[in-house]
Amino acid sequence: MNQQHPFIPVAEPLLAGNELKYVTECVQSGWVSSLGKYVRDFEQQFAAYCDAQYGVATFNGTVAIHLLAATLNLGPGDEVIMPGLTYVASANGIRYTGATPVFVDSERDTWNIDPATVEAAITPRTKAIMAVHLYGHPADMAPLRDIADRHGLLLLEDAAEAHGARYRGQRVGGLSDAAIFSFYGNKIITTGEGGIIVTNNREWAERAFFLENQGRYNDNPYWHPEVAFNYRMTNIQAAIGLAQLEKIDDLLAIRRNNAAHYNRRLADIPGLTLPPQAGWAENVYWMYSVIVEDEFGLGRDELRDRLRAAGIDTRPFFYPVHTLPMYNTGQSLPVAEDLGRRGINLPSGATLTPEQIDYICDTLSNFRF
Ligand SMILES: *Cc1c(COP(=O)(O)O)cnc(C)c1O
Repeated sequence: MNQQHPFIPVAEPLLAGNELKYVTECVQSGWVSSLGKYVRDFEQQFAAYCDAQYGVATFNGTVAIHLLAATLNLGPGDEVIMPGLTYVASANGIRYTGATPVFVDSERDTWNIDPATVEAAITPRTKAIMAVHLYGHPADMAPLRDIADRHGLLLLEDAAEAHGARYRGQRVGGLSDAAIFSFYGNKIITTGEGGIIVTNNREWAERAFFLENQGRYNDNPYWHPEVAFNYRMTNIQAAIGLAQLEKIDDLLAIRRNNAAHYNRRLADIPGLTLPPQAGWAENVYWMYSVIVEDEFGLGRDELRDRLRAAGIDTRPFFYPVHTLPMYNTGQSLPVAEDLGRRGINLPSGATLTPEQIDYICDTLSNFRF
């Protein structure tokens, strides 16, 4: 580590609002587990933020996917189509039910599921298509809706990386039959660990609530007619989440301003492809990511090493899930694999300062000469 420079992390949470106040209230009142007023408030307010009617909060985003899959009654023999280029949780949450994730390729210009590849992956066992809004840029939902409707499939969103992003003016989370979000510490808003299912389907919301409460009916606390889960969010998590939600406009503005700053500084560097911004989309830049093309002159991993030596932390893109041992069937998805090999997430958190961005961009420019 270069001692001249402070370490710049990829992401740090910004907890500058009422987080401490609300958490203190949980502690002082004794409402620290999943009962308590903040959980229901957070569910309602976050769902409303997505223009959806119902929210069911969970203790992380991965279990929100599992809970959604269980709510939809997915199981062995069922298939869910999703992009290969996503975080492993998208696939695991489906696989926990015994259902099979089926991977398709990504678009080179949005890094998201390529609707043109979906129809060929549909079989009689297909139950749903799950779009993932990768690194903050929405997937192209209209063609997916069209395919889902024509084949009688559900359309789902893994919106874990894109709180507040818009597709044709409408916020993600309200663009499908049901969506999940994560509130992990590095996400756009956080509850420490946390997740939520958002939907307009009342029956599913009630079923998800039942299943995450150990399969319990409110009026009969120890009668459990099914094997179910304890996936509840705690009041402390929800307290942090409510304070974060109060500030979400500021948190999104910081990320967009930071991205605009990066874009200005990096636009002229040959060999770096900057993050997507489709005409129909509003990217929230959960991660400010670039693709390191051959013209850059340094490989992605070598670039990461050099940045680390200058005190700049980065992440590589996800290994596409279809290349991980438990999901690898020898399938090849060329765009997903190429992006996975070349992509790099630069420091992107809401605590990043303009001076740090200038330092990162200066460092990147200097590597070329
Ligand atoms: C973060 C994330 C999740 C959920 O992750 P948790 O850490 O369990 O909250 C799911 N899908 C994607 C694409 C993610 O980035």
